[in-house]
Amino acid sequence: MIKIDGSFGEGGGQILRSSLSLSMLTKQSFEINNIRSGRSKPGLLRQHLTAVKAATQISNAKVEGDYIGSTTLKFFPQEIVSGKYEFKIGSAGSCMLVLQTVLPVLMLQESKSEIYLEGGTHNPMAPPFDFLDKTFLPILKKMGVDVNMKLLRPGFYPAGGGQVLVEINPCKTLNSVNIDSFGEINSIKPRVLFSNLPHQVVRRELSTIRKKLNLSFDDRDCTIETNALGPGNIVELEVETDQFNQCFYGFAFKGKKAELVAQNCIDQVKDYIACKAPVGEYLCDQLIIPMMYAKGHLLCSPLSMHSKTNIEVVKKFVDAKIVVEELNEQHTLLRFL
Ligand code: ATP
Repeated sequence: MIKIDGSFGEGGGQILRSSLSLSMLTKQSFEINNIRSGRSKPGLLRQHLTAVKAATQISNAKVEGDYIGSTTLKFFPQEIVSGKYEFKIGSAGSCMLVLQTVLPVLMLQESKSEIYLEGGTHNPMAPPFDFLDKTFLPILKKMGVDVNMKLLRPGFYPAGGGQVLVEINPCKTLNSVNIDSFGEINSIKPRVLFSNLPHQVVRRELSTIRKKLNLSFDDRDCTIETNALGPGNIVELEVETDQFNQCFYGFAFKGKKAELVAQNCIDQVKDYIACKAPVGEYLCDQLIIPMMYAKGHLLCSPLSMHSKTNIEVVKKFVDAKIVVEELNEQHTLLRFL
């Protein structure tokens, strides 16, 4: 039984999700204590509990401690079964993080899976649907895994109710991936997704982007009005290089000025371009488990606490050879041997 201390490093939900994925992949049981003790509301929230239930379902696991607020969990996985699944959060918690838990497992099976997810799809502090679709999945494609995602309805905090369909065409042996140069920037594409809010908000966000990044575009090409259950708004900037496309987000919430939502997103893009490390902070932590199986290397910005914590979790389950080379203040090379 592998023992995990949920309070180490980042001390958040990632330790639990990565442990679940790795436990299923390596067929090793684990016990985690101090779940999310680094957070203001420790223990399992709905989103984490749904991830536990999803993992339990796909691996026919036995589990103890699977209730809201639980700070300890024991998980005993059995055979993985691909197929059709439905995972509903029942709140605005991110269903993308539930997908993050089961995808690395289902993508390495013999047969395909189809998942229907319900919950938040564009939450701050989680990968938005579009990040997975445009930035993360194209890299899985390079590994040989073909995943198609369809957004039926976005879910924003606090109403939730987002709906996503995911089709996973697995690949037993992954191709190695090497991302080691930033390349040329071909374009920076803005896009604003919104629901139940005045168009004026979108105009102000796009006008801030136009001025601050000196871009020219037609607002109508960048505006997507959706039918979410409640109000919501997210600004996206997609930086397309000859390597791949990296997306950045500004998240709106009540009381936050439209200009500031856009500016948050612009700042991330400016930092990314100044740093010239192709694999940004979020993409890096999300690629660690897939890269363990694919092998290769990634040129990243300095590793976040999330990435460092994820590497430590991986090492608890697998005799992994992950070499972290800090090349200079802005660049770290992560090699998966
Ligand atoms: P908690 O720690 O409260 O349990 P959590 O379970 O919601 O939080 P974290 O442990 O903070 O989640 O992990 C968040 C995940 O979301 C990470 O994989 C991170 O890369 C991803 N993420 C966060 N913000 C973004 C963003 N703007 N774009 C893409 N991915 C993001």
